[in-house]
Amino acid sequence: MDLIVRNTRLACDTPPVDIGVAAGRIVAIGPNLHAEAREVFDAGGCLACAGLCETHIHLEKSRIMAQCAAEDGRAANAMARVSAAKLAMRPEDIAARARATLERCIENGTTRMRAQVEVDAKIGLRGYEAVKQLARDYAWAIDIEICVFPQEGLTNNPRSAALMREVLRDGVRAVGAAPDFDPDPAGQIRMVFDMAREFDVEIDLHLDNGNTAERMDIIQVCDLTEQYGWGERVAVGHMCKLSVLPPEALRPLARRIADAGVAVTVLPATDLFMMGRDQTHSVRRGVADVAVLAECGVCCSLSTNNVLNPFTPYGDGSLVRMANLQANINQLSRDEDLAALFAMLTDNSARLMNLPDYGLKIGNPADIVIMDASSPAQIVAELRPPLAAFKRGVRTLSRPRPILHPPETV
Ligand SMILES: [Zn+2]
Repeated sequence: MDLIVRNTRLACDTPPVDIGVAAGRIVAIGPNLHAEAREVFDAGGCLACAGLCETHIHLEKSRIMAQCAAEDGRAANAMARVSAAKLAMRPEDIAARARATLERCIENGTTRMRAQVEVDAKIGLRGYEAVKQLARDYAWAIDIEICVFPQEGLTNNPRSAALMREVLRDGVRAVGAAPDFDPDPAGQIRMVFDMAREFDVEIDLHLDNGNTAERMDIIQVCDLTEQYGWGERVAVGHMCKLSVLPPEALRPLARRIADAGVAVTVLPATDLFMMGRDQTHSVRRGVADVAVLAECGVCCSLSTNNVLNPFTPYGDGSLVRMANLQANINQLSRDEDLAALFAMLTDNSARLMNLPDYGLKIGNPADIVIMDASSPAQIVAELRPPLAAFKRGVRTLSRPRPILHPPETV
């Protein structure tokens, strides 16, 4: 074998096992594997997973706080501030910023990613070209899939429509939308479903941002998902409006979303930062409750979205931090609830992205991340980091534990 990861756990309540790897794939899982390997890694009883999956992130517009006007008062105006900075973005600048953010994600144990990339008259294809190149450069550590979308309108923006079709012809496998920024939101959603059918690609939409439950686009998305036969191929991100619904309205809607085969990505850092700007005190959280959605059968994932830009002026690429933040916002404390949040960074996210070869199973690519914890709940509660990561059986990350240096005792 090429690699054996010894003494690791696949779940918190199962005995330790070894994972054997040959030619980039998992070939054996079991206790005390009797085999020789070129490399042996002792996981010390820590938990293994197939890596974290980032289902929704904007690499090309990360790290631009210095290029944007400062926030003025309670109105965030993030869209206008980012839009104004886009014309001046140069390919080298985009690549350097996107690379820095991507490396933070890899350092935090992410092995799969869907990057949202916008195309329009202002940024043209510069963001797309940069992320596409980055995907090639970092294929040793992470699989990056691009979702192309129109941030600045589509029904009123033929340039965006033309550029989206151009990158879909170039092989991009997912198409998105931002109907809140279109004069005809329903028209934009229809256009995107038509593009998905024409190019046979997945759909991943920015949807239902807002402080009230008025005009919920999710109804139209569920209807179209069924009409087009696109169940299990549609995801929606944000869904802040779900957070203002009382349980008697939320639960039937959540069951409708689940039945249609639409998955939901909650982006707690952005949603918490952007929502409730109409209030001066007792500011509502504006973050959808993933525990209730999951209870109603919705496939939920948690992701990073924006990093160090006007939509979210923070970020370290840690998905575990997103799960911890979500737990805090949704007031979740039971071990099973925290473990469910970890699944929203791993198995559920892979399901949302339709990644059939994800997971620690014989035959799958040997993407193995050792987390410094004995259980998924501990990872989320204590923000436990990865100790090591392997992509297709090759070591990509070492993250040694900190060492304390107490004064010497005599
Ligand atoms: Zn987004």
